[in-house]
Formats: sequence, structure tokens, C-alpha cells
Amino acid sequence: ATAVTEMLEKLGIKEINPAYSTGLNWGGQNNKEVREIYSPADGNLIASVRMATEEDYDAVIRKAEEAFKVWRTVPAPKRGEIVRQIGNKLREFKEPLGKLVSYEMGKILQEGLGEVQEMIDICDFAVGLSRQLQGSTMHSERASHRMYDQYHPLGIVGVISAFNFPVAVWSWNAMLAAVCGDVTVWKPSEKTPLTALACQHIIRDVLADNELPEGIFSVIIGDAKIGSAMAHDVRVPLVSATGSTRMGKKVGEAVGARLGKSLLELGGNNAIIMTENADIEMALRAVVFGAVGTCGQRCTSTRRLIIHDSIYNDVKARLLKIYPNLPIGNPLSDGTLVGPLIDKDAVEMFTNALDAVQKEGGKLLIGGEVLEGEGYESGTYVTPAIVEAKNEYHLVQEETFAPILYLIKYSGSVENAIEIQNGVKQGLSSSIFSTNMLETEAFLSHWGSDCGIANVNIGTSGAEIGGAFGGEKETGGGRESGSDAWKVYMRRQTNTINFGRELPLAQGIKFDF
Ligand code: NAD
Repeated sequence: ATAVTEMLEKLGIKEINPAYSTGLNWGGQNNKEVREIYSPADGNLIASVRMATEEDYDAVIRKAEEAFKVWRTVPAPKRGEIVRQIGNKLREFKEPLGKLVSYEMGKILQEGLGEVQEMIDICDFAVGLSRQLQGSTMHSERASHRMYDQYHPLGIVGVISAFNFPVAVWSWNAMLAAVCGDVTVWKPSEKTPLTALACQHIIRDVLADNELPEGIFSVIIGDAKIGSAMAHDVRVPLVSATGSTRMGKKVGEAVGARLGKSLLELGGNNAIIMTENADIEMALRAVVFGAVGTCGQRCTSTRRLIIHDSIYNDVKARLLKIYPNLPIGNPLSDGTLVGPLIDKDAVEMFTNALDAVQKEGGKLLIGGEVLEGEGYESGTYVTPAIVEAKNEYHLVQEETFAPILYLIKYSGSVENAIEIQNGVKQGLSSSIFSTNMLETEAFLSHWGSDCGIANVNIGTSGAEIGGAFGGEKETGGGRESGSDAWKVYMRRQTNTINFGRELPLAQGIKFDF
């Protein structure tokens, strides 16, 4: 538990076991329901966290409403200054926070640190953005009239996040929302509450130093009940929800029924196409990182590899040489590339999916074992699997959040590969490996990939914060992070100003009386 102790000591958090108690406004004060948190890395109990009740939730929302009245009056560049300070604090805590992410969630340390770096980067991006929340001006058809549009803050942004990016996804939302003048209420995954509480400590100090109310950023530790309360709550004009498509459908429906706004970042079923013109060495690096990195628990993980029949056997043979040598082990140890799955339920889901796909006709080529013995006491370590399959198999059509790579053969032109790639319900990330410009441009064209992310000679996994992130179809259609994703956190207002002494009506209408 050294990562936990180190981080919590640095943050001055003392009491985490048996019941987390902070005296802050993040809920959990009235409830006796406690959830035990075990590290997937070593199976140790690392904390017991009180789960918030609906009354706790209500108290947090009321604090956030009060804080919004203050925050919206702060000029946007000054809000950016607060975000700059948050970014600096995150730089200070990068190492212990990255370790805690790795220990609580199970991703390897490099990725834990990378996740915190992403938070720092989005802070920098948001600081710049705080001076660029631009609307446009238009020419009025009426004399002595001026028209423009401007963007105003929305109010409370509810953020529901998934376990696999326990802190970065929150920061993508919260830092943009903050410069836009919104306040955020964050409901992290109930599987990763400690990293969320650590972030709240970091933020709380920055707000206190600047004599700002803590309700500008709140966190509430709870499960789907709290998420659902948020989705139904008219006091939350925007709900940004990251997680499974099953969750997104429920949240989208509840928010839609009250005509609120939702930003949905849901499951993916990402494919890499390797044409006969692929640089195979380069492609294999991307495929392996995409399929086994984060133990297959990224929304952008590579799930399907669509290979031209002329290179199929070669690619398959090379993958079967690489997989047995993947270092699987404690995510905090040097040299580990594949850490554990999040919990035993995930292990069961992984083995069940492999059984089911084999019943459908899939051929398991390698992997699929649950590891036991020294270093694997948590029971959450598995060997990544490769399965020869057909795109239409039921299991291939679904996202299994674990390291299973389906090999799918295609023949003929790239159009056939694109059809397979698009032939699933999800539409998050996609990529093509080819050095032939006709193929790569076809893939990026309006009849090419139907995903929110389409890459050439880069894998499906991982994205930079500068671009808008998200996907189509059952991935939910939301976009967050870079580009103009900030607009969803604001309401647009069109203004017309008459600086003449006449009142001409639009469209030349005469209305004389
Ligand atoms: P999950 O759907 O089980 O949970 C995600 C969050 O939703 C949690 O905070 C959970 O408490 C909450 N939740 C669950 N049911 C709810 C309901 N009915 N109402 C309101 N809130 C509810 O997902 P998970 O297992 O934590 O994460 C894995 C999934 O997340 C995968 O499908 C993955 O692809 C997806 N994901 C998507 C993105 C993206 O940006 N597209 C990023 C990360 C993860």
C-alpha cells in the first residue's frame, strides 16, 4: 500500500480505513454504507469509502448552485488563472498521483503518469482557451443594426466517469467547464474513488488559496443511483457521462426526457485495417500496444484486426511470436507492459467471452488463461488472447472490456475492409496501415471510416488532448477535450442591437398602425 500511503501523506489525508471521513462536502457523511476498495495489483484492501446518499447528493448540488453564482461573475481569463494554478499543483503531484492511479486502477506506472500528464496538458489548453471563447459577428440586413453571438456559462456540469481513466476524463470536462464559467459535480466510478478524492484535495487547496468556494469543483462518491439522480436532475443542465453503452442509453434517455444536454462517451469496438501495402513492423507495434495496453481496458483499445489475405499468415505468425513474451505483472514494477484487469468480475467476463466466441466458431490461438501463484494473488491477471473470428459473430459485435484481439481476414480492395470496419454498432476509433495514398484517402473519405477518430499509420489507442475526442453511433456522439469541444459547456445567445432611430422589421415586413 505504499503508493496510497505516499500520496495520502503528501495530501495530508489521514483517515482512510475503516471509513473514509473528510468533513468536506463530497457526500458520504450520513450513510453507513461502506464500499471496500481492493487494488487489482496485489489484491490488498486499500480503503473503505462511504457511499453518498441522495441527501448527500442534494447537499452537494446546493453548494454547487451557490458557487456558480460567484464563479460566473469571475472574468474568463481570471478563471483561466485558477486553472493554471491547478495545472501547477498537478505538476507537483504528478508522481504520487500517477502511482495512485496505477495502484488503484491497475494500469502500468508509465500510463498512470501519462494520465496525470494529460490532466496537466488539458489545464494548459484551458488556460489559453479562457481568452478565446469566441462568438461571431454577422452583418444585419437592417440599417444601423448589429448582430453577434456570444457564449455564456450553463451552470452545473455533472460528470460521470468510468474506472479506466479514473482522473483524466474528469479533467477534460472539468477544466474546460471551469474556464467556461460552469461548476462541476463529479461522480467518479465507484471502483476508483481514492484517486478522485486525491484530486479533490488538490483542487480544494487551490480554491482556498484564492478565497473561492469549494463548490466550484465537487466530488460525490456513489454508484449508479447517484449517477441516475444526476441524470434526472433539472438543476444539472449538462451531464457528461463516460462508460458503457448500456449506462449511456439510460443516462441519455433520462437527460433527454427533461430536454437537458448530454455529452456521451461510450463503448468502442475499434479496428485496425492492414492492407497488402502496410508497413508490417510499424503496424504490429500499434496492434500490440492497442490490444494489450492497459490490459485491453481502454475505450480505444484495438479489438479487431482486419488483415488482407495476402499478408494474413505472416501477421498471425508474428503476433504469435510476440504474445508469449509480453511481461505481465505488477503495474508498478519496472518492465511490466500488461497489468491486471480491474476486478474478478472482469476476469469472469473475459473468460466467458472467450468460451462464447469459441462456441460461435472462433478459434482461440493463444492466451485466455487466468494467472495464479506468486505475484498474481489478486486473481485479476490474465494472458491476452488472440482469436480468429468473423466480424458477424455476436461476440465480435460487442465490446468485451478485456485483452481479446479478433483476427479477421479480408480479400480484394480496401472497400471490403472498410465495410467490415464499419460493420459494428460502435463508432469510436479506427485506423488503417497502408503506404498507398489511394487506400488511406479512401479510408478518410466520406464513404470511409464512420468513426469519430480515424487514423493513418497510427493505432486506435490513445489520443492527444488537442483534438475533439469521441465517437459516433452507439459510442454516443459526444466530443470533449480539444478543438471546439468547449462549446457544449456553454449556451449560445444571439444578440441584435439597433443603434438607429427607426424600427425596421426583418424580412421587410410592414406593420404600420
Ligand atoms: P460503467 O458503464 O459500468 O460505469 C461508468 C460510470 O457510470 C460509473 O461511474 C457508474 O457508476 C455510472 N453508472 C452506471 N450505471 C449508471 C446509470 N444507470 N445511471 C447513471 N450512472 C451510471 O463503465 P465502466 O466499466 O466503468 O467503464 C468501461 C466502459 O467505459 C467501456 O465500455 C469503455 O469503452 C467506456 N469508456 C468510454 C470512453 C470514451 O471516451 N468513449 C472512455 C473511457 C471508458
